[in-house]
Amino acid sequence: MDLSKLGEFKLISRLQSKLKYRSPQVIQGIGDDCAVLSPNSGNYQVLTTDALVEGVHFNLKTITPEQLGWKTLAVNISDVASMGARPKFSVISLGIPKRFSVNFLDRFYKGLNQASQKYQVELVGGDTVSSPKCMFINLALLGETFKRKVFTRSGARPGDRIYVTGTLGESALGLKILESPGKKWKGSKTCRAKCIRRHLKPEPRVEAANWLSRSQCRVTSMIDISDGLTQDLGHILEAGKVGAELFESELPISKAFIKYSIINNLQPLDLALGGGEDYELLFTLRPEDVKKIDIGAITQVDQPVTQIGEITATKGIRLISKDGRSRTLHRQMGYNHFKGKE
Ligand code: ADP
Ligand code: MG
Repeated sequence: MDLSKLGEFKLISRLQSKLKYRSPQVIQGIGDDCAVLSPNSGNYQVLTTDALVEGVHFNLKTITPEQLGWKTLAVNISDVASMGARPKFSVISLGIPKRFSVNFLDRFYKGLNQASQKYQVELVGGDTVSSPKCMFINLALLGETFKRKVFTRSGARPGDRIYVTGTLGESALGLKILESPGKKWKGSKTCRAKCIRRHLKPEPRVEAANWLSRSQCRVTSMIDISDGLTQDLGHILEAGKVGAELFESELPISKAFIKYSIINNLQPLDLALGGGEDYELLFTLRPEDVKKIDIGAITQVDQPVTQIGEITATKGIRLISKDGRSRTLHRQMGYNHFKGKE
């Protein structure tokens, strides 16, 4: 169906009907001039927003509307999780060109609803406008955390241990596969499908973040990896005025991923260090707390949590290879919007 047949208001109520998650903390959701929320008293709130522009952040030839809806919410949830907070309420603004169908938006809201139910976020409002050329999306997300239990980028100190959740590089490889459909990709179909899925349908590490928030561990800094390990670790190092050593042999990259990269002439290490869109959590811990995470993390969180290095007083990032040699990493391996890939 054509968007012009429906008009703005019927469209909004149609999209609203796709959203099933209701939070007990929402007094007024979609339907008034503002949403009305009741935060848990004594908590801190965190607020974030992310914009996605067609042609820059997504390509409708490679992502389904459902995946795009999911990803729009998921990338913001990852930012909230990186503060150690729980995602709660969101608003969305959509700029839609006339060529889009109602069916596209139905499917977009289906994906949005899936993420909203899985991560218990209520979409409490938005704005819907037409856009001359490209589709654009902006979503803002409010989260909550215990008072003073908020993990920022600053605070890493020499001697702290560096940890990362999950595995690295698969999303970047998935993007490469999607961008070169004409290339003959060799090797495991399962690995290929996993990499593509990680790129199109990321799963933010809310559980790991909440585990850390409830634990007695002193998380001295935390960030989510959206622009690549080297770049995002660089933010932590800059904020703390420190440096880091990373151990190549400890980086969480799967054997299947290494094999797949190599037979397709790609460097697994480059993908893991500079790839981006992993949406894993990168954090630092006081060395005395290492035992707490070793005992707790594996059993209570669905993702592996791996120690990959140590914070140093010497600035910069050094990668220690398997044979003990060290080389300096350049952090601009990740993505920078106004510069592109360096
Ligand atoms: P206003 O004129 O006050 O901006 P709108 O007519 O734009 O109100 O929106 C009506 C209601 O629908 C508001 O509660 C708004 O938050 C919500 N809304 C608008 N667009 C969307 C959307 N794309 N998704 C969810 N809610 C929306
Ligand atoms: Mg409006």
